[in-house]
Amino acid sequence: MKVFCKACHVELSSELTPLPYLSFANEKVEEAYVTEGFYLISDGRFFPTTHGCVIINEADLRNARNHSDLNRLAGYCGPSGHNGKNQVCSNGHEIATKYADCTTVHAIIFDKSATYYIAY
Ligand SMILES: [Zn+2]
Repeated sequence: MKVFCKACHVELSSELTPLPYLSFANEKVEEAYVTEGFYLISDGRFFPTTHGCVIINEADLRNARNHSDLNRLAGYCGPSGHNGKNQVCSNGHEIATKYADCTTVHAIIFDKSATYYIAY
């Protein structure tokens, strides 16, 4: 599958394969929640309020950049993801939250109201 921006349809991920089991997700701080090349649909258990959202590895994010509002990117070593969506598509639409701090598990979580995905 691939993820796209709902507003401008720009591609937001590389081609991804579903993680076979949710239990394969890695919950260690400072490590990637999802292995590169895979995605999973959040059940909201590990990342509260993300039920139904697509979660991917940072390396698979495409055509996105950091939000211009630096408060959204607050954290110690990287964005903690606690200040709202901090990633925008190449046309400036808020599409995802990046968790990449030394205090968090690392992941990109797409906003389900701002993005969609197509499975091939
Ligand atoms: Zn867009």
